[in-house]
Amino acid sequence: MKTTRREFVKVTAAGALGATVIPARVGAQAPGASGGDVYDVAVVGAGVFGAWTAYRLRLAGHRVALLDAYGPGNARASSGGQTRVIRMGYGDQEIYTRWSMRSLELWKSLVGPIGRPSLFQQAGVLWMAHGEDPLTTKTLATLQRLGVVHERLDRRELERRWPQIDFGPNTWAIYEPESGFLVAFHGVQAVVQMAEAEGVEYLQEAVLPPEGRGPLGSVSTRSGRVVRAGIFVFACGPWLPKLFPDLLGERIFPTRQEVFYFGPSPGDDRFRLPAMPVWVDFAEEIYGLPDFKGRGFKVAPDRHGPAFDPDTGTRTITPDTLARVRDFVARRFPGLKDAPLVGSEVCQYENTSNGDFLIDRHPERDNVWLVGGGSGHGFKHGPAVGEYVTARILEGGNVETRFSLDTKQKVQKRAVY
Ligand SMILES: Cc1cc2nc3c(=O)[nH]c(=O)nc-3n(C[C@H](O)[C@H](O)[C@H](O)COP(=O)(O)OP(=O)(O)OC[C@H]3O[C@@H](n4cnc5c(N)ncnc54)[C@H](O)[C@@H]3O)c2cc1C
Repeated sequence: MKTTRREFVKVTAAGALGATVIPARVGAQAPGASGGDVYDVAVVGAGVFGAWTAYRLRLAGHRVALLDAYGPGNARASSGGQTRVIRMGYGDQEIYTRWSMRSLELWKSLVGPIGRPSLFQQAGVLWMAHGEDPLTTKTLATLQRLGVVHERLDRRELERRWPQIDFGPNTWAIYEPESGFLVAFHGVQAVVQMAEAEGVEYLQEAVLPPEGRGPLGSVSTRSGRVVRAGIFVFACGPWLPKLFPDLLGERIFPTRQEVFYFGPSPGDDRFRLPAMPVWVDFAEEIYGLPDFKGRGFKVAPDRHGPAFDPDTGTRTITPDTLARVRDFVARRFPGLKDAPLVGSEVCQYENTSNGDFLIDRHPERDNVWLVGGGSGHGFKHGPAVGEYVTARILEGGNVETRFSLDTKQKVQKRAVY
């Protein structure tokens, strides 16, 4: 992929930033600029949202700094897991289906230029349902309308194709053969590597919460560095409430989420690719992935856990959740009934009130963008989020209402799955 450099003179964020103009020359108009590192845009947070945003801004020709306190895809970050599902089904929330479609294209496009093996595994995604489940029924209509390749499978066909699954009360499913999963923290690191190769400057720095009011001229880091920029993007996932406590302290809810990996017996191929797809048991609020590279068969409850601090929270699993997950595995995947636990992760969702992302300008600082609220489903959308944020910064235009800060409530009522 080639960098498409262009002059910044005419690139304004009119509409999005009012009269603010992205600096004609590097840093020329960073508010109050005087010394220190100067950039057109500083992106704080190198998780999946920040990494893709920095990369896209750079491809559009801007001088971009990308800062992260712990490193891209670090173990504390929401993007820090081994794998993440990419599916197209989102009920009737068509925008997320469209973004998944676009993101899958972009994830796949990342393969060639750096000569990496694919970050995407086309395992297929099986979304199980029973009865007239409204969300799954709406998904079916959306996939049909948008031309996403899919199948509606009845119980008989499910049992024929996947005899290693006991479908329990599930009577039907949607199968997306072209979806699958992404290699998560490696994927983020690959995006940052690509961004650096294009000229993004990556700085491992912990940014202090910005002080004052009005346009932001610079941020300071714990090590004493000052980074100046015309525009700032804060893509800090579950840390957003710490950086903007007044604004987001009650609007982003980081919750503790546990992930389990069970080891199939040697020679038992039923739980790895290509025999096993990604699966979602929606009614039981649990999903999983095939054993990948011998790391174990992944099972993760999707129900929101208790509140969690991403810096200091303890990342060991709890016996209660393990017992619940084991019980589920024994019922749904009898061949894994006695499989040992070979790994685990404790991560956090960074939920908004209803699961819609937060992508908006700070209400009092119009050169500051807040990007986050991935709410347990954001990873797959990293490429589309990067593209969307870049377009809003460079071309202006209002953000979708559903992404705006105004729509973020202080009480959680999940609506996006
Ligand atoms: C267990 C689990 C399973 C999930 N499964 C899926 C899935 O299957 N599919 C899917 O699409 N999504 C899934 N998600 C959701 C998805 O992973 C997240 O929505 C997404 O990774 C959020 O990315 P982010 O860039 O917003 O945040 P993060 O990845 O958390 O990145 C934020 C970054 O900001 C940095 N940072 C924070 N504060 C500062 C500071 N002061 N200075 C500098 N840097 C700072 C952090 O170090 C971090 O690297 C899952 C999440 C979890 C926890």
